[in-house]
Amino acid sequence: MSHLFYQTSQRRPVLDQARGVYMWDVDGKRYLDGSSGAMVCNIGHSNEHVLYAMRRQMEKSTFGYRLHFETEASEELAAKTAALCPEGMNKVFFVSGGSEAVESAIKLARQHALAVGQANRWKIISRSPSYHGCTLGALAITGYAPLTEHFAPMMREMPKIPAPRAYLDGLDPDDPATGAHYAAMLEAEIIAQGPDTVLAFVVEPVGGASTGALVPPVGYMEAVQDICRRYGVLLILDEVMTGAGRTGRFLALEHWGLSPDIVVLSKGFAAGYVPLGAIVARDDLVRAVMEGGGFLHGFTYAGNPLACAAGAAVIDEIARLGLVRNAEVMGAALRTRLDSLMTRHPIIGDVRGKGLLLAFEFMADRDSKAPLPARLNAHQRLVDITYELGLIVYSRRTRDGVAGDHIMVCPPLIVTEQHLDEITDTLDAALTRLAHDLAP
Ligand code: PLP
Repeated sequence: MSHLFYQTSQRRPVLDQARGVYMWDVDGKRYLDGSSGAMVCNIGHSNEHVLYAMRRQMEKSTFGYRLHFETEASEELAAKTAALCPEGMNKVFFVSGGSEAVESAIKLARQHALAVGQANRWKIISRSPSYHGCTLGALAITGYAPLTEHFAPMMREMPKIPAPRAYLDGLDPDDPATGAHYAAMLEAEIIAQGPDTVLAFVVEPVGGASTGALVPPVGYMEAVQDICRRYGVLLILDEVMTGAGRTGRFLALEHWGLSPDIVVLSKGFAAGYVPLGAIVARDDLVRAVMEGGGFLHGFTYAGNPLACAAGAAVIDEIARLGLVRNAEVMGAALRTRLDSLMTRHPIIGDVRGKGLLLAFEFMADRDSKAPLPARLNAHQRLVDITYELGLIVYSRRTRDGVAGDHIMVCPPLIVTEQHLDEITDTLDAALTRLAHDLAP
């Protein structure tokens, strides 16, 4: 009998060890980690340089409470992180995960509004579908009913606009008019809410598991930034999944040359070596909050030297191994392979993503974009088949069928062409078996 409980009662084999892109269970079965855990292990498992840096830090100290001591490790990681962010974003606040980081961004934005005499501003606009975390504040801006609806009475309802799913709306994502069309929804929502009540817009630059690696249409990200500026609304980029090289840039915002007010990081930031997250904010924003009395927020484990030493070593490894570039090159190669799977498997209705943040979506019919019936549970069945075949992928289905089933294929950024072949061959076999199982 296990004493643990999680989201579901499904039990999986017991993990023994993990190296590079592979993981082994206690029976010696090998799995290729085709989703980097939950899009976390960007530099692969058991990287010697990171383990060495952690060991060295552990021998010095593992914890120093931030109100008692500064640590070299946290200063070093903050400096390295700021150097990778846009000009003027030099202030870093550490936490231990993505939800904590999103909470921190929301509260920093609110305190900034108070500090600059805009107490009216408290509404946060986000998108649906979206995922920003499971704590109540992050959940309030998450657009994903299966996770939020039970907790609705306990959360302050926050306004949502549709995520720009051009492929479902029959629009061309490469036509600038499409980006403008979806961005106009943000402006309309700000006006409907009352511009002087809107605090921030929170957005995943490339969608994560909620949308299945949705890439925004041309012009969309630049346009939402302009709209935020025009209305004095802070732009918060949730780069929890897209950050740390995943999309072929260190930060996804580089694809569009964006200058947000706050960037949110976790997952690949410490690549699974230790729980870590951060927000990086504009200098003047933090200055106003500090001059207003300080940030009324903080978690006990935040900024501990062990986590920061691991994070700094991860950033070094991303640079030393050229992983941002590898994500771009291997991402393009994997995308080609997924496109070719789509030509062979009619169940795949769409392939999308950027860098190594890739996904494909199942559809009952490509023309109408109709999703598969939920009762088929196709996404979970595919995951179970690939698991049996020694490949781990990550899947999601929205309950109302709006987004259908999608499978995230997001291996560590250290993958080679050979790994990609292994991933594609296994997916090919699994999709063939799934089609057979689903046949009437
Ligand atoms: N934001 C995004 C975009 C995410 O993908 C996630 C997790 O999947 C989170 C926030 C929450 O992160 P965590 O699970 O570390 O709390």
